[in-house]
Amino acid sequence: MTADLASRYDQRVPRYTSYPTAPHFTDGIGPDDYAAWLGGLDATRALSLYFHIPFCDSMCWFCGCYTKIVKQYKPIASYLEVLIKEIEEVADRLPARFPARHLHWGGGSPTLLTGADWMRTLERIRARFDVAADAEVAVEMDPRDTTEDYVRDLAAAGVNRASIGVQDFDPEVQKAINRDQPYDVTRRVVEWLRRHGIGSLNMDLMYGLPHQTVARVEAMVEKALTLEPQRVALFGYAHVPWMKAHQKLIDEAALPDTVERWRQFTAASARLIAAGYVAVGLDHFARPDDALAVALGKGRLHRNFQGYTVDDAAVLLGFGASAIGSLPQGYVQNVSPLKDYARAIEGGTLATGRGVALSADDRLRAEIIERLMCDLAVDLDDVARKHGASAGGFGTELAGLTPLRADGIVVLDGRRIALTEAGRPFVRLVAAAFDTYLQTGQARHSKAV
Ligand code: SF4
Repeated sequence: MTADLASRYDQRVPRYTSYPTAPHFTDGIGPDDYAAWLGGLDATRALSLYFHIPFCDSMCWFCGCYTKIVKQYKPIASYLEVLIKEIEEVADRLPARFPARHLHWGGGSPTLLTGADWMRTLERIRARFDVAADAEVAVEMDPRDTTEDYVRDLAAAGVNRASIGVQDFDPEVQKAINRDQPYDVTRRVVEWLRRHGIGSLNMDLMYGLPHQTVARVEAMVEKALTLEPQRVALFGYAHVPWMKAHQKLIDEAALPDTVERWRQFTAASARLIAAGYVAVGLDHFARPDDALAVALGKGRLHRNFQGYTVDDAAVLLGFGASAIGSLPQGYVQNVSPLKDYARAIEGGTLATGRGVALSADDRLRAEIIERLMCDLAVDLDDVARKHGASAGGFGTELAGLTPLRADGIVVLDGRRIALTEAGRPFVRLVAAAFDTYLQTGQARHSKAV
């Protein structure tokens, strides 16, 4: 495998955290559909909960999230009131009290909530859902906002997993993305988290940022290893300034090209594997005894809007502006503008702005794509049988993989597709062969590598 392939397959494809992907949601799905879908859920199955806090105190120029910059706490406090009301509105529409085993807080910066906010919100959640005693309660953390007292409050509220945003430790790279975060700030927060019992730590790193080089990315991984995270996510910077206007502040001339991005990913990945981490899917790495690596070994890894997960719940309820939920009937996404979100919830309705109802074909393709993204392999006939479809289909899709086979990215064994190890960075391209929406859609995605 040479960098030449990265250059030849320089295409823009979705990251497949869902299928169909969010750009294909439509406003044909609204609050009434969501209410009906909630009412039809099976209360014997545990569900997962996601909470979106769309505020930050400064804008990182690489950011791809839905967030708003605030300098005061007041808008956050008002938003939290609405979010708590949304929990009540959604719970009221469920046919029973449901067990919940995974709670995830993302943003934005959830760590802009106060310690008292955490206590109160988790109390309200526990009042409406049976949160298992061993439930995973995960929070995305910006180490720049955090004190030791705050970490103590998080632990007291029940948080037991933290995802720490780092991106890169290099000061020049940090300056170019407007994220000043000295290594010692991150190190201190890691120490506090472990001291107060929040021992499950993920670390988010990036390649493809302005001024990054292979040597700098290797140095970034070395520094990350000194903090001994259980999991590392190694994301490629997605430069989409037509969707995220603040990315125009990034100097495009300082961005690595596709071949250099491929070299950076390969170098960082090799260093993590040499340090004993297991490569998980497209862009995650986990210690061999971590639940993510264990799930991978058992074929039980999953992918949802937060990325790779051991969470196998069939239902993910999303709370907050722009939050996405996944139900057996389809996907729902709340409206994004904060005013519209608040108006809907305060008016006693749900805030669903768009979504998609899943067809049988969508479900079948969603599972093929999820298995490819997780296991880097799928047996088409096994999945087809599971979905009550006839074996032997997907001739067009398989034919579409011919160039990837010729280039050693995938191998076919009967009706089983498997990525080669060298083909791992191209898994999104293989998944895209099964995406019928991609052919017709107008959405522009990030680069495949
Ligand atoms: S802290 Fe996170 S969500 Fe906020 S601007 Fe930076 S990257 Fe985006």
